[in-house]
Amino acid sequence: MKTDIAIVGAGLAGLTAALPLQAAGYSLLLLEKSRGLGGRLASYRLNGVRCDRGLRYLTDEGRLLSGLVRSLRERQVLRPWITTSHRYTAEGLQQNPPQTHYVAPEGMSQIAKELGRDVPVWFSRRVAAITPQSHDWRLDLEAVVAGSDAPLEVTARAVILAIPAPQALMVLATVPGMDADVINPLQSVTYDPCLTLLAQYSGDRVPDRIPWKSVEFPDDPDLSWLGLDSSKRESSSLGSDRPVVVINSRAELARSHLDDRDLTPVIEHLLSQGAARLGDWLQTPEHLHLHRWRYAIPAQVWPQDSVVLKTPFPLVCCGDWCGSRQVETALRSGLAAASSVNYQLDHRSLAPIHSLWGG
Ligand SMILES: Cc1cc2nc3c(=O)[nH]c(=O)nc-3n(C[C@H](O)[C@H](O)[C@H](O)COP(=O)(O)OP(=O)(O)OC[C@H]3O[C@@H](n4cnc5c(N)ncnc54)[C@H](O)[C@@H]3O)c2cc1C
Repeated sequence: MKTDIAIVGAGLAGLTAALPLQAAGYSLLLLEKSRGLGGRLASYRLNGVRCDRGLRYLTDEGRLLSGLVRSLRERQVLRPWITTSHRYTAEGLQQNPPQTHYVAPEGMSQIAKELGRDVPVWFSRRVAAITPQSHDWRLDLEAVVAGSDAPLEVTARAVILAIPAPQALMVLATVPGMDADVINPLQSVTYDPCLTLLAQYSGDRVPDRIPWKSVEFPDDPDLSWLGLDSSKRESSSLGSDRPVVVINSRAELARSHLDDRDLTPVIEHLLSQGAARLGDWLQTPEHLHLHRWRYAIPAQVWPQDSVVLKTPFPLVCCGDWCGSRQVETALRSGLAAASSVNYQLDHRSLAPIHSLWGG
């Protein structure tokens, strides 16, 4: 299989890089190790109820993000969830200044499905190595799960690595002759991990009225955020007769337990900490799911929008770790990578991203 541009990673950065390049007429292929689009825009079905285990919500801060939110609202992918969020401190539960939080009732991964509708993707294919040939790159792929009949090799004129820096370093280490002076600084980029607990409750055990939907814990040693996820989906205040709560741990707690084989003690700890602060009912869920995010939120970031490597053919890294952090950065960085690759290939005219989002 030959393509102009191979994009590694079908998260927000990879999808954002893909749109203008595809619209400019380049052939491209996204290579994704998991079975779906979105990366950390991740949804999950807990006992039949959809919930978000990655990106929690969007606000319309930032030039690109506000354009994306506007477009996704017009396409009825996003809708306002809350304007009042809370924080829990030594003084108890307090309201934050009003700000609209937007969510996708179909799950936040729906954002990626919408953006990637027309983009060719091979799923369950992990890019294991990149090698320069006489005219282009060869990418060697590993099958992550059986069942996909996509090939295990691709050649491309250019490669975009739209993945967290520590994962990009693993791929870059396979490129023969890669200059250590170029890739060593990338080792300064670090991520905070997170343990995300999804907990589903029996409706008859839950209070009729819950005074919060999204609570930050700025000073807590163990909890970072707790949200009534099911209230994103339906108009009733609980959102379901089987309400779901999502609890995100602090990075320190996740770092200490990320590789534990048995996470039962951590799960019980997260539940009891949540219950002690926001209500005893949180202690006794009926169904649970815990996800380990090794690369959840960038901690130490790269100072530029993308990393353009000195290689025989174009090779550019991007992601939420380039420039600042999180979603606005992933968008800006994906566009920077697209622009750099286009500059090194054919200098075509790239359409503004807002026109491709339809906003
Ligand atoms: C629990 C949680 C809550 C969050 N909440 C917020 C929030 O409220 N606000 C906010 O702004 N941000 C939030 N974020 C962060 C936000 O989700 C990310 O900043 C953004 O989604 C990053 O997009 P990305 O494309 O850079 O990376 P990713 O989404 O990580 O995409 C990278 C993709 O590359 C794939 N991949 C990796 N290596 C390979 C390989 N070798 N071969 C093939 N594929 C590969 C991965 O499977 C993944 O799909 C949250 C993140 C988490 C985990």
